[in-house]
Amino acid sequence: MKRRRKIAVALVALLLLSQAPFAYRSYRLWQLGAAVDELNARRVPALPGEAPFKEYVGVFHVHSFLGGHSKGTLEEIVRAAKSERLDFVLMTEHPQPQIDTAAATLRGFHDGVLFVGGSELVASDGGRLFVVPGVAAPDRNPPLQELVTRAKSEERLAVVGYPEEVRNPLPTGFDGIEVYNLYTNAKRINYATMLFDGLWSYWGRPELLFARFYERPAENLRRWDEYNASGAGRAYAFAGNDAHANVGWDWQDEDGRKVFDFKLDPYERSFRLVRIHVYDDRDFYNARGGDGEEPYDEQYLLGALRRGNFYLAFDVFGDPNGFSFTAAATRGSESWQAVMGGEIPLPPDGEVRLKVTLPVQARTVFYRDGQVVHEVPDATRAYLIVKQKGVYRVEVYLDQLGSLLEGKPWIISNPIFVR
Ligand SMILES: [Zn+2]
Repeated sequence: MKRRRKIAVALVALLLLSQAPFAYRSYRLWQLGAAVDELNARRVPALPGEAPFKEYVGVFHVHSFLGGHSKGTLEEIVRAAKSERLDFVLMTEHPQPQIDTAAATLRGFHDGVLFVGGSELVASDGGRLFVVPGVAAPDRNPPLQELVTRAKSEERLAVVGYPEEVRNPLPTGFDGIEVYNLYTNAKRINYATMLFDGLWSYWGRPELLFARFYERPAENLRRWDEYNASGAGRAYAFAGNDAHANVGWDWQDEDGRKVFDFKLDPYERSFRLVRIHVYDDRDFYNARGGDGEEPYDEQYLLGALRRGNFYLAFDVFGDPNGFSFTAAATRGSESWQAVMGGEIPLPPDGEVRLKVTLPVQARTVFYRDGQVVHEVPDATRAYLIVKQKGVYRVEVYLDQLGSLLEGKPWIISNPIFVR
């Protein structure tokens, strides 16, 4: 009996000891959460005369049960989008031989959220292509370039997915690259560690577990920069949630009730982590004879995405609304302006002024053709005077959130092309 008690005490001690690192890791996440709250509470309002851009916020690359390997229902997706107060969701269903999944998935407005039905097509030479609006299942998988050419001839948005799997050089003529994919990133998770991390954080803010595996997608960013710098075409960066709501564990009792439900990627959580922020740039239309009253609909949204008038943000670390990246140039009485995604001429013997506005103090890193050219720490405004043509973009870092986010960008802008 005595011996049994000793063993029991030893086991309990061992259990407690084994959990100590996880308790500490959970504490670090709690600290991160407190820092994020403080950051959101300290947002700086826009300066007078600096009208902030209105933006539409949404997610790209979402699957439902229609395409297989996801159990997510359309109702769950609508509910999650509404509760996360998204403006749009770009569905990208896998084609199925029996049904046209792009036609059967969510489209139009549901509970105030705009849904656009797209497809995720497999290329025979590696990689994927997202086409929006989507298409019925093709008879065979053609090479990536053929998919792009076909999509563009049909005036669909064409975004190259899983660029790391593209075996040949990138095709030309597409609109964007999915530089970040949440699902691919999440595959780096060590499940044993994540199980205990999850148990310790489950009743706190489980979405912050993301900070444990999030990594800057350096290789995809490099390929994207290289493509734009080469002049082969203009591509914009997309972030895919690749939301399936199928990573994790659940146990059900005999009546099908969930006894334990530990999902790493329920739609709500996925939609909270990374988002696409689209500028509501009605000036673009006004300058081209529009009346500024274009309705917010599928056509408007896809147009803004094709023009690159958007940025990517890891919203889980802070509300980025108020970020902008613009350019201005003057020469005599002439003047030019551009927002991200756009082009601006470099006047002869002149300069272009790039400007970043931020809702909180942060570190802005300017890139030209993929190379860091300037850094501005701890500021809500960052400028760069440019006298050289090139493709310019910025990444924004929240150093104040601590070492868990070291080297991990909060915002990745689309470029401005100085020509
Ligand atoms: Zn997918």
